[in-house]
Amino acid sequence: MGPETSLFTMALGLQAPWSVTDVRFDAQRKEIHFDVRFKPGSRFACPSCGAADQPVHDTRPRTWEHLRFFEHKAFIHAAVPRVACSQCGKTGQVPVPWARSGSGFSQLFDAFVIALAREMPVKTIADLLEVGDDRIWRVLDHYVPAARALEDFSDVTAVGIDETASRRGHNYITLFHDLDVGRLLFACEGRDADTVKTFAEDLRAHGGDPDAVTAACIDMSRAYIAGVARHLPNAAITFDRFHVIQLANAALEEVRRAEVREKPALKNSRWMWLKDKHSWTKRQIHQHHELSRMHLKTGRAFRLKETLRDIFTTATTRAEAEELGMSR
Ligand SMILES: [Zn+2]
Repeated sequence: MGPETSLFTMALGLQAPWSVTDVRFDAQRKEIHFDVRFKPGSRFACPSCGAADQPVHDTRPRTWEHLRFFEHKAFIHAAVPRVACSQCGKTGQVPVPWARSGSGFSQLFDAFVIALAREMPVKTIADLLEVGDDRIWRVLDHYVPAARALEDFSDVTAVGIDETASRRGHNYITLFHDLDVGRLLFACEGRDADTVKTFAEDLRAHGGDPDAVTAACIDMSRAYIAGVARHLPNAAITFDRFHVIQLANAALEEVRRAEVREKPALKNSRWMWLKDKHSWTKRQIHQHHELSRMHLKTGRAFRLKETLRDIFTTATTRAEAEELGMSR
């Protein structure tokens, strides 16, 4: 074993009886290949029953893709031993320390894939690493359910429910967030009432209790209202601020349209009324000043909408909100 093989044995994190016995560069293909071997005469624990010191029965050649060494794709080659167990009688393949069983990637490669998957789509990872996206999906399919199985949802009491469309449109998914700590709890396809049922089942499977959820923040869709009533029975529903203000804006525009026939001065004022007053242009400030002297219904609708906005911004209790609402 030369100095470069012992260096790479360390670089790959290998320990006895495993070591790198040869390193081959393929400059043209930009690849580096590591031959890894176990020390002849080594004995291994039985993968079935755990009995120690079983002799090697035979070996099977295998290859794993590893993290790149600079611009070189890296591959580990090894003959994987099987032991014929003297205790349980089974013949089984010994797990290797650098890869999980059945995977064509090393564990460090898997870890890199997982880290990338937090930041970018699977197709992008596949292109970046020059492997098929089906292989990336297999890594995620292995680790994501395993990691989710460890999640503890026992303290979840406030849930935010949102729909979002996939990038290509038409396919909707529903996202469930823990509003207390701002983490994503669950996602599933669709935007109907059954999504809440699926979430409640998942919550239960992770130590949570649908009956312990006392608050749900949703948009105004009938499906979510029905789903929460049925599957999160103790949750008080709060409508998302954005959707409520949107309704007030729609009502305001309805008032303006009705009034513009009698009051032509209201023409071309639509965006001024709908915009947050803090972002008005100079022209819009002037326009508002002129129009507010005319005692218009639209002006009153606007003040009601602004009050609603203020309530969302400043009130922290129902009593405070009611007081703000009465004072205008
Ligand atoms: Zn055994």
